[in-house]
Amino acid sequence: MKLPQKFLIIAISVTLLGISTPAKAEFSYAYPVSGCKTEFPWYHHDYPAADIKARMGCAFVAPIGGVVQDVSRKDLWSGKTNLGKDRGGLSVSIIGDDGVRYYGSHLSKVEVGIEPGVRVEIGQKLGEIGRTGSARGIPRPHLHFGISYQTEPGDWEIRRGAIKPWKFLAAWKKGENLSPVKAVTRAKKRAGK
Ligand SMILES: [Zn+2]
Repeated sequence: MKLPQKFLIIAISVTLLGISTPAKAEFSYAYPVSGCKTEFPWYHHDYPAADIKARMGCAFVAPIGGVVQDVSRKDLWSGKTNLGKDRGGLSVSIIGDDGVRYYGSHLSKVEVGIEPGVRVEIGQKLGEIGRTGSARGIPRPHLHFGISYQTEPGDWEIRRGAIKPWKFLAAWKKGENLSPVKAVTRAKKRAGK
């Protein structure tokens, strides 16, 4: 075979291979706890979310690039009132570049500069795992992690979680880019929003 022919065949093969392999994931995702051993049950009480157990002070990081939506820097929770909006204690929500809202709560600390409207990149530290809000007194700290569709800032009921996040977390932990966009779109439709 002549050299130019060989190149042509290689070029065609590469093109065909490109068509037959699945499209690259549009967005990159990161597991939301970095540098620490974690575990989470594939279960959550009352509504879909994840309670990711990790050591106190472990980093809660942005699972995707996006913009900060809600930040709570004060633990206003009281066992007497147990208000829904206060249960998260210190928390951060971001709107990811994929249009999905991601929420982490019960934090011991929110990073300086994490304020509504601020751009964050994938893997950027947002805060530290803690035990604030309704997690006060629970022996083992955890990150409450919720995936939901967008609503108004401060909407605690939706942001706490609208879809089951476990398979996405498991994929991100393995370094796979599994996107929750379709699941979130379905949940939004179901809710009539
Ligand atoms: Zn929880």
